[in-house]
Amino acid sequence: MKYLGAYPAALRAQVEQLMAQGRLGDWLLKRYGGVHGIRTDRALYDYVSGLKSAFLRNAEPLAKVAFDNKLHVIRNALGTHTTISRVQGSKLKAKREIRVASLFKEVPIEWLRMIVVHELAHTKEREHDKAFYQLCTHMEPDYHQLEFDLRLYLTHLESGGPALWSAAA
Ligand SMILES: [Zn+2]
Repeated sequence: MKYLGAYPAALRAQVEQLMAQGRLGDWLLKRYGGVHGIRTDRALYDYVSGLKSAFLRNAEPLAKVAFDNKLHVIRNALGTHTTISRVQGSKLKAKREIRVASLFKEVPIEWLRMIVVHELAHTKEREHDKAFYQLCTHMEPDYHQLEFDLRLYLTHLESGGPALWSAAA
């Protein structure tokens, strides 16, 4: 249950029971629709740009947005957010990149939205602190539930459960 370590023991016990009964997958499938249709880095860039202009109009532009199949979803705190400093002429310019683990190609749109909101929030707040999560829930009121449900899915996969969504579907 490494993905759920930060949640209360009683909640983890409920999840363990669902898994023991083989019901976690069905539970997730009932809560969510099909896989989203964002297949390419270009489509992801457009999706992220849409959210950014809706909520963070004044933030610096994004230099790059991409799916990354080398990213481990949780080890990298659900994604990465890098600011690469480059010398451009006499000015030091920060270049913002958002990379999203490839796993997010094969999930419902709600979880893609959650991870994008997470990464966009990091363009304003570096740490996972109160201000950071306030910004996340401003952009996506269901943020915490979505992150929990994604962690349930990762737990399901880690326990050997089948992928519930596929890009081929
Ligand atoms: Zn983060």
